[in-house]
Parts: sequence; structure tokens; C-alpha cells
Amino acid sequence: MTAPRVRALAASLVGFAILFSGIPVVVHGGRASDLTWFILVFLFCQYVAFRLLRRATLAQEDERLALARAKHEKKTAERQQATGPVLGKLCAVCTRRIVFEDDGSRCKECLLPVHHECRSQHEGSAHQAGVGAYR
Ligand SMILES: [Zn+2]
Ligand SMILES: [Zn+2]
Repeated sequence: MTAPRVRALAASLVGFAILFSGIPVVVHGGRASDLTWFILVFLFCQYVAFRLLRRATLAQEDERLALARAKHEKKTAERQQATGPVLGKLCAVCTRRIVFEDDGSRCKECLLPVHHECRSQHEGSAHQAGVGAYR
């Protein structure tokens, strides 16, 4: 339970406490109209509890949406990373930077950037003998 939910529960319980504390007053005092005020305070407490609970639920929903959005953005960024231009990326074989776009391209199997001259070496070591794609 989050803190706003605890506060909502507390507000609700305070309302009940006030209502029940009002009953003996009326029983001993005899005037039923006195109870009206206790009922009003009770209802107000329930209203406050409802508002707190609603705010907590909305905040939780916001948090969930933000999390989903961040996840989606991360996924998109990863996809762009795997398919974007190789210019400026590090070659997966020799770890030197690919300085010109024409110097290299992405491996068709694992999408890692490699120099054209490093390609055969990459395919030999990464994709032969069932080693499979490493990312
Ligand atoms: Zn290379
Ligand atoms: Zn590869």
C-alpha cells in the first residue's frame, strides 16, 4: 500500500470514529438533530478518503504509462542503433572506428558494424561453426 492509500484509509477511519463517538452523545443527550453534524463530518471524511484514493490511483496510472513510454523509447533507440548508419561506429572485428560511410556496413546476420575488409573475418569467427550472432 502506498502512502496516499494509507492516508485515505486513515481519513475514512477517522470518519467512522467521529460517527460512533456521536452516537452515545445523542443517546445520552436525547436530541437526534445533534447526530446530523456527526453524520456530516463522517460524510466529509469519506469524501476526503475518496479523493485521496482517487489521486493515488491516478498517480499509479501515470507511473505505469510513463514506464511503458520509457520502455517503448528504449526499444526504438535500440532499433535505430542496430540499423542506423555505420559512420562513426566501432568495427566489431578490429574495434577501429569506421571513418567513412563507404568503409563498412552492417553484418546481415547480427547487424554489427564492420569494415568491408573485416567482413570475411567477422563472418568466419562470429557466424561459422554455429557460434551464432553475438550482440
Ligand atoms: Zn574493422
Ligand atoms: Zn555478424
